[in-house]
Amino acid sequence: MSYQAEKLSRENIIIDGHIDLPFRLYKKNLLFEKKIELDKETSGNFDIPKAVRGGLNCPFMSIYIPSDKNFDEAFVLADNLIDLVDNVIKSNQKNLAHASGPSDVDQNFIENKISLPMGMENGSALGKDINNIKYFFSRGIRYLTLTHAKDNQICDSSYDSKRTWNGLSDFGVEVIKEMNKIGMMVDVSHVSDKTFYEVLKISKKPLVATHSSPRKFTPGFERNMSDEMIIDLAENGGVIMINFGSSFVNQRSNKIFSEIEKKVKDYKTKKNLKSDHKELDKYKNDLINEMNPFASIEDVVETIDHVYKLVGIDHIGFGSDFDGLGNSLPEGLKDVSMYPNIIERLLKKNYSEEDIKKICCENLFRVWNANLQNHQT
Ligand SMILES: [Zn+2]
Repeated sequence: MSYQAEKLSRENIIIDGHIDLPFRLYKKNLLFEKKIELDKETSGNFDIPKAVRGGLNCPFMSIYIPSDKNFDEAFVLADNLIDLVDNVIKSNQKNLAHASGPSDVDQNFIENKISLPMGMENGSALGKDINNIKYFFSRGIRYLTLTHAKDNQICDSSYDSKRTWNGLSDFGVEVIKEMNKIGMMVDVSHVSDKTFYEVLKISKKPLVATHSSPRKFTPGFERNMSDEMIIDLAENGGVIMINFGSSFVNQRSNKIFSEIEKKVKDYKTKKNLKSDHKELDKYKNDLINEMNPFASIEDVVETIDHVYKLVGIDHIGFGSDFDGLGNSLPEGLKDVSMYPNIIERLLKKNYSEEDIKKICCENLFRVWNANLQNHQT
């Protein structure tokens, strides 16, 4: 590791748009655990020692709601997962802290604390009540990923072939307007292309894709963003935070992972399992070990460089999806200790220290501040 890369990872605030720690803890049956210490090394992608080594200062905690929950279940789960993040912070007060906006993140950084702002992944938790946006904002949610694997009451998902609304529903239109008003960022990761363009038309604030990569490297994979969409997102002032997952950054990996997903889905149906059942994880891991679908860190750096060449430096961030990708991360990017590996490679590609600072934090801070400006809660 070069001295300069190490130094930059320490000196800069590093933001990550999407880390699935809450759901990882949920799967370990820690949902109602009051004390959850993270100051020792764990087997997960995120813990405090790894974050300190990697210079990570501001990982957005994903309040992830699986698509098979109904509105009531989704609301309760979201509420409980937010409590869980509160408990994680309380249990590690020396090292972790809440953050409502960029100024809190700055202050926590000065105090040597890692900020854990929250984003909610799947608007199903809003149900049909627009006031829930205000409620979840008051609980600390700073972005909403409109949907996840399926169409919901707000919009269509890239993973769902039904195309229920052909973009946004009427309620979805209201949701975007209300989010703009409240100051909650709109996350366009997971939505269909049509949804993206409708959101872009309606939103008066810059958008964020918290964990998506350029589709150029994964043709036909709608979960990633086309060049045209990245150009339009940039025009709106938004940011694409690059997903590190092997299947997001490399075509071969993408193909193998979609085969794996299909097999897992068939297995889930055959055995009649819930989507968060442990047996599915084991089945999937066995397939991964068998099929070796891994991308490399160079692939991730290529996607960053592609966005840079397409729209310049002001619209790129990190959105690893750590703790949400299972065993599918590229070599050299297996957990939150490894951001310096990317920085080292960007330096080799002649990215300046200012460029790297923009990727690490300034671009997302710009979008976050713009969303919070004149907000009414
Ligand atoms: Zn996701």
